Amino acid sequence: MTTPAAEVPGPPGVRSHLSGIGVCPGRAAGPVALMGPRPQLPAEPSPVVDADAEIQAAVAAMTLTAEDLERRAAATSVPGAAEVLEATAMIARDPSLEEAIRSAIAKGEPAAWAVDRAIDAFRALLLDLGGYMAERVGDLDDVRDRAVATLLGLPMPGVPERDAPYILVADDLAPADTVTLTTDRVLALVTLRGGPTSHTAILARSLGLPAIVACTDAGSLREGELVEVDGGAGEVRVGVTPDEAADTNRREQDRRAAKAASRGPGRTADGHPVALLLNIGDATGAAAVAKVDAEGVGLFRTEFLYLDRQDAPSVDEQVSLYMGVFNQMAGRKIVVRTLDAGADKPLPFLNPEGEPNPALGVRGLRTARRSPEVLTDQLAALSLAQTATGAVVWVMAPMVATAAEARWFTDLAHDHGLPVAGAMVEIPAAALRAADLLAYTDFLSIGTNDLAQYTLAADRMAGALADLLDPWQPALLDLIRLTAQAGLAAGKSVGVCGEAAASPPLAPILVGLGVTSLSMSASAVADVRDALAAVTLAQCREMANEALAGRRSL
Ligand code: PEP
Ligand code: MG
Repeated sequence: MTTPAAEVPGPPGVRSHLSGIGVCPGRAAGPVALMGPRPQLPAEPSPVVDADAEIQAAVAAMTLTAEDLERRAAATSVPGAAEVLEATAMIARDPSLEEAIRSAIAKGEPAAWAVDRAIDAFRALLLDLGGYMAERVGDLDDVRDRAVATLLGLPMPGVPERDAPYILVADDLAPADTVTLTTDRVLALVTLRGGPTSHTAILARSLGLPAIVACTDAGSLREGELVEVDGGAGEVRVGVTPDEAADTNRREQDRRAAKAASRGPGRTADGHPVALLLNIGDATGAAAVAKVDAEGVGLFRTEFLYLDRQDAPSVDEQVSLYMGVFNQMAGRKIVVRTLDAGADKPLPFLNPEGEPNPALGVRGLRTARRSPEVLTDQLAALSLAQTATGAVVWVMAPMVATAAEARWFTDLAHDHGLPVAGAMVEIPAAALRAADLLAYTDFLSIGTNDLAQYTLAADRMAGALADLLDPWQPALLDLIRLTAQAGLAAGKSVGVCGEAAASPPLAPILVGLGVTSLSMSASAVADVRDALAAVTLAQCREMANEALAGRRSL
């Protein structure tokens, strides 16, 4: 990383900090570069003279957009970017979208307006669905902008070209834009919109790029203004001097160098072992295990295999995907979570339509009540892939509420030849009755993202309720302690695989509560390893007691 030249300092004394949701830790300082504007339609549509020609132009623009995205997908080496780009290209090739465009042109709209109108209708549909689907709106907008720019002969929107590295400030980032993001060119990301599970957040984490989303005041930042981004705290500092900027980037460079050299198993200063594991969603994520010297995978989210599909993938298809992931593990353990569809990740073929409250509805393991074959197919595929690769595979079910559910799933997994089966603790009922669950199941893994949302009754997608979703909330820590202590009594492992596990200041506290492993994104491992190495187990316990007593300002 090079230190950017400061050209235009910000106005002194106007505002010193902007806040958002930090989604990837790290600091960077540099001049702001604003994302290119979205192409606007002229106020008056031009009259349609030849509807067939307009249809041809619109179809060609959509095809060009899809081809461009596919080309970028083939060329990118950014982890996870190819899948995102291919998914966006699929939107551009969607036959029902083309149908809607044709029908708008038939009603008298010129091509660019028809594209805009058709995509707007799809947009409303996704927003209605909410959660994960609503976050896909960015992909749809990207297709619209590229196709409209082509049709109107306007410059393509995208990541700005600059001589020196910069802090990228955008409304939200389109998946296609993230492909050109490299850490030597872009120092940090700040977006006005987006949530912790948007593409921006996922890709920023996989690049290890400091990033803040939902920074609603970022619209006030000016081109060239010198700012400092703290992706851990979720803060943008304005009015930074060139010397301060240079100092921040030097320190960050040192921090990254130290992180890259970080190796070895997780343990406290007095040698208490704490397994450091990775959260992954595909084979690319699995490759990071060796790179950051993690002890394995603590959460393999398998739903990415099912998204954007009209029906479940076949057993054969799943086997080959799982083998691709398991082959990267080289003897290290991998904990696979069975499909967690519903709420923020709905699947049309599995989740009931029109549930009044999907987060409390038929999601996670509950989908097996209606469609048990989707779960049994997945377990069969996992078992076959385990045999074929010789990998150390543990499986766990999401959204387990009762001991009966834990028992049912554990027996089912064992019957499929998967010897280690566990349950995620994401529902307060499961935490309160952790000892009962452990009577039947082999291990527990605490999903603090959902456990926080259900304990504090605060939607995890609602950026405005971030204070309630804070993993330092004593009520959440109480439930973690209860679960971890039940694990210690039963002699079974209890890990944390929600985002809380990636927090260096929280890690010793989780260990002090009795947690045996922490699972996180690759970019967090070195900092968590250091945080644990700095304290003894006795200190972890003292810190845990302080946190349980609520002696930390939230
Ligand atoms: C969690 O809820 O903490 C978790 C790890 O699962 P997900 O974020 O995929 O719901
Ligand atoms: Mg969850």
